[in-house]
Parts: sequence; C-alpha cells; structure tokens
Amino acid sequence: MAVPLLDLKRQYSYLKSDMDKAVLNVLDHGWFILGPEVTELEEKLAGLCQVKYSAGVASGTDALLLALRACGIKPGDEVITTAFSFFATAGVIVRLGAKPVFVDIEKDSYNIDPNKIEAAITPKTKVILPVHLFGQVADMDPIMEIAKKHNLKVVEDAAQAIGAEYKNRKAGSFGDFGCFSFYPTKNLGAGGDGGIITCNNDDNIELLRIFRNHGAKPKYYHKIVGYNSRLASIQAAILLTKLPYLQKWSEKRNEHARSYDEAFKNNSGIKTPTIKDYTTFHIYNQYTIAVSNRDGLKEHLKSKAIGFEIYYPVPFHAQECFVDLGYTKADFPLSSKAADEVISLPIYPELTDEERNEVIEAVNEFVK
Ligand SMILES: *Cc1c(COP(=O)(O)O)cnc(C)c1O
Repeated sequence: MAVPLLDLKRQYSYLKSDMDKAVLNVLDHGWFILGPEVTELEEKLAGLCQVKYSAGVASGTDALLLALRACGIKPGDEVITTAFSFFATAGVIVRLGAKPVFVDIEKDSYNIDPNKIEAAITPKTKVILPVHLFGQVADMDPIMEIAKKHNLKVVEDAAQAIGAEYKNRKAGSFGDFGCFSFYPTKNLGAGGDGGIITCNNDDNIELLRIFRNHGAKPKYYHKIVGYNSRLASIQAAILLTKLPYLQKWSEKRNEHARSYDEAFKNNSGIKTPTIKDYTTFHIYNQYTIAVSNRDGLKEHLKSKAIGFEIYYPVPFHAQECFVDLGYTKADFPLSSKAADEVISLPIYPELTDEERNEVIEAVNEFVK
C-alpha cells in the first residue's frame, strides 16, 4: 500500500461543501484583496496566538520580510538566526541587504541554541530570529532575556508552529513579531500562498499595514517604499473554514507522533523527536527522525512507495549563495549532522492507522 507524505485531497473531501461555499461567497461579493474575510481571520488569529493584532500578508516569507523591515533592518545590519531551517528564514535577511549571522542548533530540539547566541552578537546586531522548527517552539525565555539585555528585537519564525505552546504561551506571542505561513503543507494551509504577522504594539501593526500596501499612508501618499503583499480574501475564506478544526488536527498529529515514538523507542538506530520540558504543545508540522544510514532508508521507503522528505538537506552555512559569509562546516557541527541524518515521515491528521503501521513496519524493517 502506497502511503503519501501528505494528501490534501482528504481534508478537502470532508470540508468540500463549506469550503466551496466560502470561496463562492467571495466570488459573489467581489472584494478580493484584504476583504472582510481577511479582517475576520486577522482577529481570530490574534486571539488564537494570544496577541493584540495580526496582519495578513501574501506569504510566510513576506511575513518575515515585512517584520524585519518593521524592525528597521537595513543594509549593513546583522540578524542572528539558526543555521538549520527552511531557506526563507535566511533569504529575507539578505534581501534587505543585511547580514545573516548563523548560530548552531541544540542537539535534541533542532532549534537555535540560546547558549550560543551571545557570542554571535556584534555592535551591528539588530534582531534575533529564532525558528520554531517542525512545530516545537524554540527556548524563548533565554532568547528574550538576551534580547532585552542587548536591546535587540525578536522576530519569531513560527511558520511551522501555529498553535504550538511554550510554557502554556502560544508561538508568535513572545517576540516583537510572530510570522506564520499558510503554505498548503503547514498545519493551517490555504489554497495557495498566504501568511500572517502577529504583534502586540499599536505602532507596529500600523507599520505592517503600511508596508504591505506599497508604503502608502494615506492611499497614494508614500513617505516610505513598501511592498505589494496583501492576503487574498479567497485564501482567508478557506482558512476561516479550516480554523475550527486546527486544534483537533494538531492533536491528531500528536496521536500519530505518540504511536511512532512507541514503535521506534526500542530501535537504537532511530532518534525520535525530543519534546522539551518547556513544550506544553508540540504541533508536529513534521515528524522528523534521525538515522545514520539515511540514503539507505530513503531507497527502502521509495521501494515501498512510502512518502518522506528531507527537511533540510543543506544547512544555511553550506548553501552556495552564502559562501561569501565565509562559514565552514565545522562552525555548525550539529546543524551539519542534522542535515545529513534527518528524514520526515507522514504525519498529516487524515493518515490512517493502517498507513501509519505500514510506515512503522518499513522503517523498523530497515533500521536495525
Ligand atoms: C514555510 C516556511 C517559511 C515560508 O513560508 P511561505 O509561506 O512558503 O513563504 C518560512 N520559514 C519556515 C521555517 C517555513 O517552514
């Protein structure tokens, strides 16, 4: 039996009538950009993330870009981030003319190691940009403490962590800004690209609303140059239809994770994901294990038609576009090791027990 890594058609099949209705309603009213659905979504997302405001934008990448802009990032500034994440995290820093300064990850969580942040701070550092990778929030208490001590801003890359909790507080509620993605593979996925930025500060939300609309305030008057980065009403309508199910879906992902954990716990060749003490809710955007013979496991899973993906095969310091930064592999041993060993398995909520067992059997059969 083939097991796909993700199958969005299953979700659509049981939400079809509500989703179709929501989309058709937008076609009907015709307010396609930043319409009433966007405003409703912004209010609901702010509530969910325990913040005052949120601003819908065109993608998770743009959420990061606009948040860094709103922090005042300009050419010559430095932004500290993890060496192990999706490319967008580092790409946006460079797009603003700033320099990404990478920090290695923790051994167990794959998130930035707070103990290594202070050594990376220079007089040019403006922002710390932690990523809540795979759906587990980074260790925010020490990160916020360091930021406060050195007068730095914090932007959370929460693209993979909507609804995740650290000490009972939601991802996106710690830093100056929290950035979320509605890319279809995320726990809350749109029917295309979309993103949202959370914040608590009146001036900051105002800035984001100006930046996403070419820097205009009022319309057609530009004190600053902004972007065209607005959330489409059709995307917001789809997201509003899915939102009531998000918690249940993330709980179902946890159920799958517990089964995988249990099934792999006696296999010393498999490193299962660690849940940190401070994590009160992990949302498992990915269930990522580490194995030493990953190439072999990939071939084995392929032969069994079991879906998997490598998030991520190349850490930032080893990306060709960043060679000028002058890093070497030895600078980030844990990120390098993770990039060589991680492999993510199917964990979407609609995965059946039978399919999950198939995945378990195939992995345990190969990794001894
Ligand atoms: C998905 C993702 C992004 C980018 O989001 P898009 O909506 O695809 O632009 C940024 N950071 C991380 C960690 C992500 O997983």
